[in-house]
Amino acid sequence: MKIEALFYQIEGDFAICMLCPHGCHIKEGNRGVCRVRGALRDESGNLRLYTFNYGEVSSLALDPIEKKPLVNFFPGTFILSVGSYGCNLKCLFCQNYHIAHEDPHTVFMSPEDMVKKIQAHTDSIGIAFTYNEPTVWYECVLDTAMLLKKHLPDKKVVLVTNGYINETPLKKLLPYIDAMNIDLKGDDNFYRNICSGTMPEVMQTIKIADEMGVHVEVSTLIIGKINSDDETLIDIGEFIKNINPDITLHISRYFPCYKMSEPPTEIETIGKSYHTLKKILPDVRVGNLTLEELRSIIEI
Ligand code: SF4
Repeated sequence: MKIEALFYQIEGDFAICMLCPHGCHIKEGNRGVCRVRGALRDESGNLRLYTFNYGEVSSLALDPIEKKPLVNFFPGTFILSVGSYGCNLKCLFCQNYHIAHEDPHTVFMSPEDMVKKIQAHTDSIGIAFTYNEPTVWYECVLDTAMLLKKHLPDKKVVLVTNGYINETPLKKLLPYIDAMNIDLKGDDNFYRNICSGTMPEVMQTIKIADEMGVHVEVSTLIIGKINSDDETLIDIGEFIKNINPDITLHISRYFPCYKMSEPPTEIETIGKSYHTLKKILPDVRVGNLTLEELRSIIEI
């Protein structure tokens, strides 16, 4: 469903989107980098920015909270997880490219429908906006989160996000968010060369979310030697420690996907990364390994 977008201004022939750091300048009939926001004329002939994925659901499942991953937020519970389509980063290794960068089949669910669904799932602690990038589903996420907090205030709202969002929309959304898992993918060169984005705004999101009392956990996919050099890992660890040393960092093993054909990250590299980060942060978790592989690098 198409609705008018929040956070834009018109300058001449362009609608300028201010939701994320790309700041797309969009001409009539075109869309931004995320593919889900575009400029059209309204019935009076005025240029406006619209979001096209409002209420469009591509994926819905009841997941363990640990799968988000969030390990220190209501462990052992389940959460209704929902996603749409579109993303504002272009990570070459995208694991959800079929919904991030393609046009999946969707079913319309209004925010009211989603709240009813959560109410019906008494075994769910709330809703997680995940699978595709929730910040480019902004208006639907905000409306649903506000409605949920109004009618079912004990239910939780979770975002699993790349954190690539501007400060003003972020601060408008965070009062309705209980927990976030935010990717911190590498250094700024990594963001520029592999994700078509930039790093400082993601760091800003982590900092603001923590300051505003949101439970934050961070995820880093370790891709071979590309982002596992000591300098990158120490910078990530120190950055998190300086914000809040209690933040859990999840590192996980990369496997080839989408446009990246590098071989799977060696187990040894995951082990080295873990031990480097563990010298800085008390809570580092490792994902995408079998128990046997995990035991080969960590004493458990
Ligand atoms: S949200 Fe989409 S349209 Fe808006 S600036 Fe970001 S990529 Fe561009």
